[in-house]
This record gives sequence, C-alpha cells and structure tokens, in this order.
Amino acid sequence: MLKGGCLCGSVRYRSAAAPLYPPTLCHCRSCQRAAGAHAVAWVTVPRASLEYEAALPVAFASSPGVMRSFCAHCGTPLTYWNRHRADEIDVTLCTLDDPNALVPVDHIWTQDALHWEAGLGTLPRRAQTRTPG
Ligand SMILES: [Zn+2]
Ligand SMILES: [Zn+2]
Repeated sequence: MLKGGCLCGSVRYRSAAAPLYPPTLCHCRSCQRAAGAHAVAWVTVPRASLEYEAALPVAFASSPGVMRSFCAHCGTPLTYWNRHRADEIDVTLCTLDDPNALVPVDHIWTQDALHWEAGLGTLPRRAQTRTPG
C-alpha cells in the first residue's frame, strides 16, 4: 500500500497496487516548472488504484493530452497523467509518507537537465541549514 499526501494535508491518497515500473527521476522542463525543482521523482501506479481520502487535487492540462494535479490549498504537485498511457498515473514520489521506500532507477529527459545538475553529488553537504555568515 502506497500512501501519501500534500504538504498541508488537505489531499491524502493511497494505492493498493504495486508500482508498475521502478521509479524514475524526470528532468523535463515541464516538471521543472510544475515543481519549481530541478527534477521530479515519479512512481507509476494503475490509475484505477489511486484513491483519495479527503480533498481531491485540482488538475490542469500542462501539455495537450497531459493533466497534472496539485493541491488547491498548498500547491504541492501530486500527479501526472498522459492520454497515451491512460490506464496509468504517475505520483510524485516525494509526497509518499515514506519517500525512501522506493528508489529511482534512472534519469529521463536529461536533454532538459540543468547544466549544474550533474555536479550536485559533489557539493558540500550540511545536515541542516547553512550556518549564518
Ligand atoms: Zn495541500
Ligand atoms: Zn517531466
């Protein structure tokens, strides 16, 4: 059972089905803008398996035949649906209650990847925020 939700808790979802594919990390320009992030991790489940427990997300067509949904209250990106694989829906992996439970296995749309993305693994790492000064 996959369970998750948005930042404010208005939208809660669950899927009793196993993921259809190993998760992937998408670098496409649409995901960058939709999430305000350099990439988005997705997990794909059967569309019919995705159930909402309280509020429904709102959706908009981000490209022809593509619907993205997000929480109307807090804006958290939640799902991606494409008419070419209409029986599936992608869920933002990091909105899972346990985002460490599933691990992306590849990067897609790297033609759109930001030029600094490849160096992220070499940056200094701090357990919490930067120290002042
Ligand atoms: Zn929310
Ligand atoms: Zn994308």
